[in-house]
Formats: sequence, structure tokens, C-alpha cells
Amino acid sequence: MKINDNFEKLPESYLFSTVAARLREYREANPDADVIRMDIGDVTLPIPDAAIQAMHRAVDDMAQKSTFHGYGPEQGYAFLRDAVAANDYAPLGVDIASDEIFISDGAKSDLGNLGDIYSRDSIVAVADPGYPVYVDSNVIDGRGGSLADRHWSRFVYLPCSEQNGFKPVPPTEHADIIFLCSPANPTGVAFSRAELKAWVDYALANDAVIVYDSAYCAYITDPDVPASIYQIEGARQCAIEIRSFSKTAGFTGLRCGYTVVPHSLFGFDEEGNKVSLRKLWLRRQTTKFNGASYIIQRGAEALYSDEGKKQVRANVEYYLTNARLIRESMSKAGFTVYGGDNSPYIWVKSPNGEPSWELFDTCLKRVNISCTPGVGFGDAGEGFIRLTGFNTFENTKEAMRRFLSYFQQ
Ligand SMILES: *Cc1c(COP(=O)(O)O)cnc(C)c1O
Repeated sequence: MKINDNFEKLPESYLFSTVAARLREYREANPDADVIRMDIGDVTLPIPDAAIQAMHRAVDDMAQKSTFHGYGPEQGYAFLRDAVAANDYAPLGVDIASDEIFISDGAKSDLGNLGDIYSRDSIVAVADPGYPVYVDSNVIDGRGGSLADRHWSRFVYLPCSEQNGFKPVPPTEHADIIFLCSPANPTGVAFSRAELKAWVDYALANDAVIVYDSAYCAYITDPDVPASIYQIEGARQCAIEIRSFSKTAGFTGLRCGYTVVPHSLFGFDEEGNKVSLRKLWLRRQTTKFNGASYIIQRGAEALYSDEGKKQVRANVEYYLTNARLIRESMSKAGFTVYGGDNSPYIWVKSPNGEPSWELFDTCLKRVNISCTPGVGFGDAGEGFIRLTGFNTFENTKEAMRRFLSYFQQ
């Protein structure tokens, strides 16, 4: 048999393995060094108790003939889809019906799987730097073209820089599928209403679809930053929104998220006929997916109880407190910083224009702090590093004390 050649085109992803290797090397050479991990991209607090209790009950349901659950609906149980519509959308004044919500085993799967419903010829636009899944999953599907100078020939790159505050702006070229992430990983910045409106207008004018990755929406604190793209007029005609319980409720190891595909969203077939994307996604899911686990969906439902909401809020506030401390301390230490107010991520500029990996080495060797080199998220990330608020408050405080004592003039 012949393989999907696109896998051979994909370069190895060295970012996290190289970070880990350099850390290992440094610790071996300096066994007494107390390295603090500020590169963590995973949550560290346990699951909110409301979800734990609900999952215990759901396990017991599985033990009784009368409450046992086998295959569930591919789209997700109505109890969870109703809770999402009522709690994540209705309070925003956004009209999303529960049959427009598709529960999944996480945002990453959906981001990749959505490639099944759009043409292989689609022109994909991605932010640089950005979450690597957008690029790699589309390359696997055959939408990348060829790779030269670390850029795929068929992609439209949306450069993010200090000039645009690391927020991508609509390009002059046409794109069919646009991946937007707000609040963004890795830069931590989020679109205002006006900035997002420009994207919705672009998508409507180009018959394009925005795939809106809103994995960090729970971290938004600024009232001018929309929690959902559907708060922008016209978005129901051009946007798919993807959310996850991973970064909001610590579900990274449990696996649950959802994707919203409105009834009012259409694409075109070969003959130019309008086709409902929701219908295609439903068909895709019913064919290739058998639903997320009943137990996990009961856990996710409990996050919307009064107790659950309070516990989720407390976890998010904990990480945001760390992020604020990082942002303020790094500024005080003389760094230019972005993000950290609507996001657990802080994007830090090299003070003297050093490349990302050089600043990584300085942080590791001088203050025993690990970070993620920005260049690993795309060429436009060169000269930056990413710090995260996912460590403990105590470790974050100690890390910031070190930065201040070493870098502050
Ligand atoms: C962590 C992350 C996800 C993945 O979420 P899962 O639901 O755990 O698959 C998606 N998008 C971004 C930007 C992320 O940082």
C-alpha cells in the first residue's frame, strides 16, 4: 500500500522534546540546581470537586442495569448540550441551540477532524506564531503544498508582531478557512470586539469559514474582549467555535470539549450548491465518532452547577493571579511583555533582540527557570519566550524573585 505522503513532508516537531532534552542535560550537569518550570502547558490543579462527585455517581450508574449507559448519542448527551447552551451562550445574549453543539473528546481532535468537511483545495490561513495543530493537521490533509524556508506554499500566514500587538489582521489575499485563537496560545493576547468584527466581515466577504479556537475563554477579564465569536454580528453565517473543558476545569486528562456549528453556516459543492456545514459535521461525527464517555460528560455537566461554577472560577483565578504576577514582575525586571491579563500565557520579548533559544539558555543557566522558546510556534515568534501561569503560586513567586534579582537594574 501507499502511505499518505503528507506525513513525510511534515518536519519533526522538536520544540517540546528539545526543551525537555536541554533541561535534562542541565540538571545532570547541575544536580543541585532547583529549576522552576515556567514552560508548563498543562494545568496542575485537580478537577473541581463538583465534577469528581458527579463522575463517582456516573460510575455507579454504570453498575446497575436500570442506569447503565452504553453507546451514547454521537453528538453528545442532551443534558450536557443543554447545559452548554444555557450557561455558555444564553447569558451572552447569543442564540445557540443545543442541536448546534457537538460534544467531543477535546478541542484538538475537533480542530483536526474538521478537515474532513472542507475541500482539500481550500486555502488555509494561520497566525504566526500559533498553536501548531492548525498547521500540521492541514498539512496531513494535503492543504500545505510544499515546504520552503519553514513556510508552506499554499498557506496564508498571518504575521503577528509588536506592530499589530500580536493580533492577526485580515490579509489582502483570499483564504477559505481561517484559524483564529483568542485568547491566543502562545502570545496570550485576545481580540477586542472591533478586531474580531474585521475578521467576521472578511470571512463574509470571502465566503470563508473562521475556525475560532476559544479554549481559553474562561480567562477573559477585559469587558471589551468577547467570550464568543457569536457575539459579533454575522458570525453565525461564517464561524465554527471550538471550546474545551481542559484549560478551564482541568480536563486535560479526562478529555471533553465541544464544537459549535450553526444551522446558518454553509459551504459550496462543485456545482455551486449551498450545503449546510452542520449537516456535514453531523454526518462526519456519526460515521467516525461514537460519542464522548458518559462518565466524563456527567462530570462536565456538573461544572455548570452553582458549586461547579464557583470551583472552576477559583481554579481560573488561581492561574490568572500567577499570570498577573509574572506580567508585573517581568515588566519591573525590564522586559517588554504581552498577554497575561486575559490568559495564563505571558509573551516576553528578549531584552537585546537575542534569539528565543539564547534567552531560553540565559533563563535556565542564570536563574534556573525553564520557558518555551517563541520561535517554536512559528518564525514570527523569534526573539520571544512564553511563560505560563500553570505552576503553583509559591513557585511562581520564587521564579519572579529570581528574575527581579538578576535582571532588574
Ligand atoms: C490546549 C489547547 C487546546 C486543546 O484542548 P483539548 O481539549 O485538551 O484537546 C486547543 N487549543 C489551544 C489553543 C490549546 O492551547
